[in-house]
Amino acid sequence: MDGTASGQRLRLGLVDGDGIGPEVVASARRVVDEALAAAGGPAAEWVALPMGRRAIEEFGTALPEFTLEGLAGTDGWILGPHDNASYPPEHRIAPGGAIRRHFGLHANIRPAQAFPGIRAMADDIDLVIVRENSEGFYADRNMAVGSGEFCPTPDIALSVGLVTRAACERIAHEAFRLAAARRKQVTIVHKANVLPLTMGLFRDTCYAVARKYPGITVNDEHVDAAAAHLVRSPGDYDVLVTENLFGDILSDLAAQLAGSLGTAASLNCSADRAMAQAVHGAAPDLAGRNRANPVALHLSAAMLLRWLADRREQPVLARAASRIDHAVAATFAAGIATADLGGLASTAEFTEQVVARVHHR
Ligand code: ATP
Repeated sequence: MDGTASGQRLRLGLVDGDGIGPEVVASARRVVDEALAAAGGPAAEWVALPMGRRAIEEFGTALPEFTLEGLAGTDGWILGPHDNASYPPEHRIAPGGAIRRHFGLHANIRPAQAFPGIRAMADDIDLVIVRENSEGFYADRNMAVGSGEFCPTPDIALSVGLVTRAACERIAHEAFRLAAARRKQVTIVHKANVLPLTMGLFRDTCYAVARKYPGITVNDEHVDAAAAHLVRSPGDYDVLVTENLFGDILSDLAAQLAGSLGTAASLNCSADRAMAQAVHGAAPDLAGRNRANPVALHLSAAMLLRWLADRREQPVLARAASRIDHAVAATFAAGIATADLGGLASTAEFTEQVVARVHHR
């Protein structure tokens, strides 16, 4: 089944979040609707669900239970950014992390790509960071009960890092499958020289998985060397696989090399769930000003459509995703960009430029 308009229905969650969230989420929704229509795909049935400051005010929690239940009933969703540092202390959970944990979204796929027409520190960057997303040093998710960070006395703080063979295997498979569809090269990024047990397990498990993918070239680097190498020669990399904290840091570095946080997309997924989420945060300085760059969420939404296309064997969704990717690139190539990239377009103007190009291929 090709999943044309008469095919499977598509139920997508939509979570605004804080700061620039409502603006970039609305923009992504519009672009997805137009791309699906242009590709001859099914119309998306959108399910709007609350999260963040407005949810605290209306429902007394940043992440209501019914938001989690609502998301569970969708085929995938678009998550806006949250600004949990600004919540009252009693509400200070990180909703994005809680959602990842609730749905077991163990893989965070973060591409970094330069676009012709956009100033980039690295014109040749075209890589994907595959970040393990469920353990490592993330204190909010690496314990079944309690926190991975604790203080035995007010002057001593401890942090526990969790690395399991099962999680390393899972994330390594994601990386090698992805590399098989790209330039067939995986770099394992770790720090086994100072953390030989945890990072050694990560590195060795990735190498063990590599044996199942004989067509893929594999090497490994310490994270400090990888950071320097990324700045020096980003074009050397295809797919990097790494643990949670290193992946977070390296992907912001890669995003900046590619141009701006405003273009850095990501997909969080498990075997049966996926969530599109921009790498950037809520950017409160830009909230409500029609100045945010919506591209990161456009490209994240395209990743979600492509993930759904594979999983549901519905190629029309992949065609809609390609329309989004091409429309964004063509808009940049035409010299149109938001202020973070030195352009003059507002969020709304940029969105309409992308929408127009979604229909022209
Ligand atoms: P978090 O810790 O939640 O990731 P942060 O405080 O590190 O958030 P962001 O909110 O991601 O940082 O953004 C930092 C700055 O980058 C913003 O203040 C804003 O100026 C700029 N920025 C981020 N995202 C965008 C965007 N989509 N469009 C334009 N500028 C952006």
